[in-house]
Order: sequence, then structure tokens, then C-alpha cells
Amino acid sequence: MKRRAMRLMATALVAGTALAPLAAAAPAQAYCGSNYTWAGSNLYMKIGSNVPSGWNNAIVASAGQWSNISGASWAILITSAAESMTLRYATPAGGFGGAPGVTTLAISGNTVVSGDVYLNPNWSWNLNGNLNQANRVADVRTITVHELGHELVLEHPNQCGPMSSAEIAAAMNPNYVQKWNVNSDDRAGAAFMK
Ligand SMILES: [Zn+2]
Repeated sequence: MKRRAMRLMATALVAGTALAPLAAAAPAQAYCGSNYTWAGSNLYMKIGSNVPSGWNNAIVASAGQWSNISGASWAILITSAAESMTLRYATPAGGFGGAPGVTTLAISGNTVVSGDVYLNPNWSWNLNGNLNQANRVADVRTITVHELGHELVLEHPNQCGPMSSAEIAAAMNPNYVQKWNVNSDDRAGAAFMK
């Protein structure tokens, strides 16, 4: 069953409509995980055919941010076939709810079996780290890093309670600030999830 998992950068209220009963992340005041995880460690991501080719470097770099993290066994590998997830420059069935990006996950039991990242074709995109919610301007790498964290089934840290300073600075905290790199809190979350 295809389930909408998370939205990026919608209002906190919208983000709170995410499907899952969330496991309280431990320790408190750190990243927000979930009950779901992928069966394998290597996640193969295909870049959709209509994604502008000029974005490839930013997308590859985003995948690299979630790979080879100390204590985690994840790697997000770019592939042209046999994908477990696809990054699309297209609108998902449920729309974006005003967000620049959305991640969907197909879940069986507690296992994620596939996923997709959607980047909103109605936003203006750049590679320079410029983000402006009101003007619908987004930066490819910031949004992709964030959405790929959702692919690893991490939630927005504020969904597990008040945020620490590390959580505020985390890529998983959507606040329309350039965040090209995962930080200590994101890495701890990735290690917790796998
Ligand atoms: Zn998000």
C-alpha cells in the first residue's frame, strides 16, 4: 500500500498529519525516528527522467550525505535501474500541500519496501542555497538532503518534542535555511534507524 509518509516544509500542523505512530526517539531531545525501516542497507535511487540534468551533482551529493555515516549501515546509491526509490520532478497523487518536496514510502508491516521523493515543479529551483517559502523558491540540495532523511524514515525533530540546538540546526528541521550537509543530530538519527 502506498502511503503518504511525510511532507517537507509544510506547516507543522500539516507535517503532523504524517501517517505513522512514531516511536519516541531515545534519548529525548534528539532526532525523531519511526517504527519503520528498510530491509536492506543499500538504497538504490533512480533519478527520474525529467529531473533537470543540471541538478545531478546536487542530488548525488545529497545522497552522499546520508551514506557512510559512522555507526550507520546506510548508503544511498544512485542507479539507473533496479531502484528502490525514485526522485521525481513531478506532482504526487496527494499533491504537495504547499511544500517544495514530499517523500512517500510504501510500507509492508514495519518494513519500507520502496519510496519516492517528489520535488515540486511549481516552485523555482536553484543550486545556490537560496530558499524563500513565501516566493516558492527552493534549493535543490537543501530539499533533497531533507527528503532523503525522510526516505531513511526520519521525521522532523519537532515531532518528537521541543528541539535541542542540534535539532534546530539539523537538515531534518525544515526552516528554509540552506542546509547542504547533515549534522550530528541527523547522523545520530541515521545510525538509530539502521
Ligand atoms: Zn520534511
